Amino acid sequence: MPSSIKLGKIAGIEIGVHWSWVFIFGLITWSFAGGILEQYYPEWSDTRRWGVAVIVAIIFFISILLHELSHSLVAKARGIHVEGITLFVFGGVSRLGREPESAGEEFQIAIVGPLTSLAIGAGFAILWLGLQGPSPEAAAIAGYLAFINGVIAAFNMLPGFPLDGGRVFRSIVWARNRNRLRATRIASKLGEYVAYALMAAGVAQLVFLSNPIGGIWMFIIGLFLRNASASSYEQLVLQTTLEGLTAGEIARRDFTPIPPDMTMDHLVSEMMLVGHGRCYPVVAGDELLGLITLTDAQQLDRKHWPTTSVYSVMTPFEKLRTVSPQEGAAAVLQLMSETDVNQVPVVEGNRIVGIISRADILRLIQVRRAVAVEN
Ligand SMILES: [Zn+2]
Repeated sequence: MPSSIKLGKIAGIEIGVHWSWVFIFGLITWSFAGGILEQYYPEWSDTRRWGVAVIVAIIFFISILLHELSHSLVAKARGIHVEGITLFVFGGVSRLGREPESAGEEFQIAIVGPLTSLAIGAGFAILWLGLQGPSPEAAAIAGYLAFINGVIAAFNMLPGFPLDGGRVFRSIVWARNRNRLRATRIASKLGEYVAYALMAAGVAQLVFLSNPIGGIWMFIIGLFLRNASASSYEQLVLQTTLEGLTAGEIARRDFTPIPPDMTMDHLVSEMMLVGHGRCYPVVAGDELLGLITLTDAQQLDRKHWPTTSVYSVMTPFEKLRTVSPQEGAAAVLQLMSETDVNQVPVVEGNRIVGIISRADILRLIQVRRAVAVEN
């Protein structure tokens, strides 16, 4: 999740806030100051109301952070590397180094979040009860925080993947059928239905209860969930499909090495124009010097082709994106998408082992997906 503001580290986990959180922060402050506080404490000054509302929004923020931290800490305890937490408009995401390896692991990581929110909510509910007599003002705040944490727990337990409840549901299906890919498909289908139900409930609120803000809000959440469900399914299918494969295993080893002193003219007419591909490694011995592509040739005036060496126009090794043979296949695909390149050389030091192209990975995904879905 890009465009987030970094806040620091807790237990070695990077904490970031997505810009959309500013909006949520404002919305909570505003709805609390203008809603509950105005209703119950009309005698309060504006400054007092808004001051209290900001404190509530900060505590709410900490509650969400604790929810996400609980996911991350359980994941860490199970030996999963946690890259960081990003808080964004509908809560947060923990970026885990890998997907859970077993249904039990997934269940534990997913369920702890809503349980944490529930526990925080229960804590505030007790405070609310206890503060009724001594400080009704503090009681109002505690009551609101109890309510909102309860809503977070309930919303996250909706069985819509990728919400926590959807993950819990997936882990249960996964434990029963022992096929993660199929479990994921079933969970995200259910996620889609939950999303449509939320959208329908939003429309119903709008039409029958004439509650426009609540209705639109619910509709947007449904829309968001539907998109998240579809895209996280695609991503998971990709990861699941490429799981356990390394760059070294999927690299093409039958590439044609180009000597550095070959002329551009020779490269284009004898290699590219007869259909041997549009990208070649420039190699001396087995040392990778760089990559030469059709684009490099196009950028050079044609009349210079016969007198220009491949070496002088190639992208040199230092400027190349390369991967080691141990790198995971899914990570390689992600690297290609992020840097917008279509091929990545696989190297050990500067010795070339093979080449991976995006088209090769996509073909591989199709084949593995077809096989996985059948059994
Ligand atoms: Zn959660």
